[in-house]
Amino acid sequence: MDELQYQIDLLKALNQKLSAECNMYRTLVDTSSNAFFYYCYEEDSCQIMGDWGKFFDAQIKNYNDVIKLFPEVREEDVEPLRDAVYIEEKGLNYFSQEVCKKDGRQWIECEVNLVRDAYGKPLEKLIRFRDITKFKKQNEDLAYMAYYDSLTGLYNRNRFVQELMNWIRRAFAEKSTVSVAFININDFRKINDGIGVLVGDELLQQFGQFLKELCEDDTMICAHLNADAYCLAIYDPYGERTMQAVYQQIHERLEKPFVLTSGEVSITVSVGVAEYPEAASTALELIERAEIVMFKVKHNGQSGIRYFDAPVIHDFLQNALIERKLKNAVYEKEFLLYFQPQYDTQYKKMRGVEALIRWRDEEGRMISPGEFIPIAEKSSLIIGIGEWVMEKAISTLAKWKKQFGVSMIMSINISAVHFAQDGFAHRLIGLVKEYGVSPKEVELEITETVLVEDFSHIIRKLELLQQYGIQAAIDDFGTGYSSFSYLRSLPIQTIKIDKSFIDAMLKDKAGNIIVESIVDMVNRLGYETIAEGVEEQEQFDYLKKIGCEYIQGYLLGRPMAEEQLEELLEKRVWE
Ligand code: C2E
Ligand code: CA
Ligand code: CA
Repeated sequence: MDELQYQIDLLKALNQKLSAECNMYRTLVDTSSNAFFYYCYEEDSCQIMGDWGKFFDAQIKNYNDVIKLFPEVREEDVEPLRDAVYIEEKGLNYFSQEVCKKDGRQWIECEVNLVRDAYGKPLEKLIRFRDITKFKKQNEDLAYMAYYDSLTGLYNRNRFVQELMNWIRRAFAEKSTVSVAFININDFRKINDGIGVLVGDELLQQFGQFLKELCEDDTMICAHLNADAYCLAIYDPYGERTMQAVYQQIHERLEKPFVLTSGEVSITVSVGVAEYPEAASTALELIERAEIVMFKVKHNGQSGIRYFDAPVIHDFLQNALIERKLKNAVYEKEFLLYFQPQYDTQYKKMRGVEALIRWRDEEGRMISPGEFIPIAEKSSLIIGIGEWVMEKAISTLAKWKKQFGVSMIMSINISAVHFAQDGFAHRLIGLVKEYGVSPKEVELEITETVLVEDFSHIIRKLELLQQYGIQAAIDDFGTGYSSFSYLRSLPIQTIKIDKSFIDAMLKDKAGNIIVESIVDMVNRLGYETIAEGVEEQEQFDYLKKIGCEYIQGYLLGRPMAEEQLEELLEKRVWE
């Protein structure tokens, strides 16, 4: 009897425990943000649990009701959902599928677990529905950021390259062509400075939008690569869909100004075009070559369109060859420094020299710096070259001081990229100390492009050098982003008036006035003036008359080798 009572108590206790557990699980399921569908094969019974209403309108009373779920998802998701729900048909025990509701607002993950007996017969099935809309949205945002430019909403460089790669693959198979245009807004930096960054952005957006509208057709795509650069590609261009036609439309649009918050702005563009397979065989090369052609248009000081044609190809190959040879030249010490004297106009005393690099390549050919410096500047090669020039110039100055007791200025050309390097000032000061020359005898020639980069940073560097005693000159003044307004605040000592002004000076009244006013302005601001490229006595006389302090040019001395300059120094020309 006792035994029986004991059994009953035990059963009761177990039962209580079981129902407590059952309650706990039910609460857990009911308060969960998921929904569950449970099916027992043996009893052919099903249950829905959790927050079902959050996912589906259909109520499921028996297993066959499952098909009521299908019309609630997007058409393309019906099949995948069916696969998930009827998992046993696939012989699987686990399956997970993401589907989207018909209105596109909700993403649902359905995760299916099937329990089988030892013989593989299905016993139970549990489907869990989870809302993954937020997660999907985050993923989409990430994908958007990875492939779209946030300013204009156009493709970014990544996406453009990817699409272009696909097109090139297709064009290879179909033996067709792909045309790529690199489109650059001329003088965007100036425009941006003039109207402010925010309005500048508005301009970029409007122009981007215009390009996008040109690309309605799915055989045309465009992208915003960076600030003022866009790319447009056409698959198999012909008829109305050629770059020439696109350019014509751009041109017509640009005849009218863009209407921005702060007023109207007109722009021009330079466009370079390269075509697969003629110009290049990969997406990156195609873009790069279109960009090279675009620079050609810009360099010629025009706006317009140009193609990667024979002369461009020739230049391109030539540049590629020079670049390859340059890499060696730095190690092989194929460089020399020439020196061109600068004199004062009053007493014709030598002020100093400008160090000008010369390159004699392995075949003994002289290659002009005008040809190879711009190529070196496009890569990091310019740093090695620039460092070599600095050391060679300063050590030569030190040698001359020892040999001749000379007091003179050594003027060194510095490229923007080199100047912008961290540690540049530090290294230069190190060289001045190492060779024991006076900092006052070292002058850097920088062009206005240096200043365009990161104005305040550059100014700080110039100030640092000036505090130490090293001076700077603005080279080729008047050819770049000149504006008298910035001149006032520059920590520099000298302005070098570009040769083009000197050439034009005596030709007409306008040339006359320009040089006179530059000299006048520069004198009043307290800087020294050097006129570059003076070839004729008449020019010299005129410059002297209008108060230009120094001149440099073939008239008084060509760039010369070290030994020749030493012959000059023996005559003590600086005294
Ligand atoms: P730049 O700094 O404007 O140098 C003046 C150029 O004008 C030199 O050309 C010089 O030979 C030339 N020149 C001087 N007087 C006259 C003249 O009376 N008539 C004519 N027609 N030309 C004259 P170069 O040596 O061929 O140098 C060309 C450019 O290459 C330089 O222009 C400078 O921008 C760059 N460069 C030269 N050496 C270096 C260097 O060591 N480093 C860097 N970064 N650039 C350099
Ligand atoms: Ca120079
Ligand atoms: Ca110059």
